[in-house]
Amino acid sequence: MLKKGNKLYSILTGSCPKCHEESMYKVKNPYLLGSIFSMHDKCSHCGTRYKIEPSFFYGAMYVSYAVGIAFAVAAFVIAFLILGAGLVNTFITIVATLIVFLPVIIRLSRNIWINLFIHYDPRAAAR
Ligand SMILES: [Zn+2]
Repeated sequence: MLKKGNKLYSILTGSCPKCHEESMYKVKNPYLLGSIFSMHDKCSHCGTRYKIEPSFFYGAMYVSYAVGIAFAVAAFVIAFLILGAGLVNTFITIVATLIVFLPVIIRLSRNIWINLFIHYDPRAAAR
């Protein structure tokens, strides 16, 4: 299911949205917080510039809101509905989940944001 050419591949792996050949990030691990925002300027495989315009990735904040809600809902379903935790414990679980997964949420949001604007191009991948 997760193959190059599928948008999900670029979103989940953080690879170039146009050719899916290499990572947009200098350091792949989002939990190395010092370099969480450091990205390559452009793809060395197809030459796509990631920062389409100045402050392009500020828009990812809108996406991170939605992604954060998704994580919070997942935490709620698991803690409250499946494990039967009380409301206070469920709240603590949701907050902890959002903190622990924040680096992942930030990266996912950037990946989704750039994939809204740049689409996969098989010719760029073949170059
Ligand atoms: Zn590329």
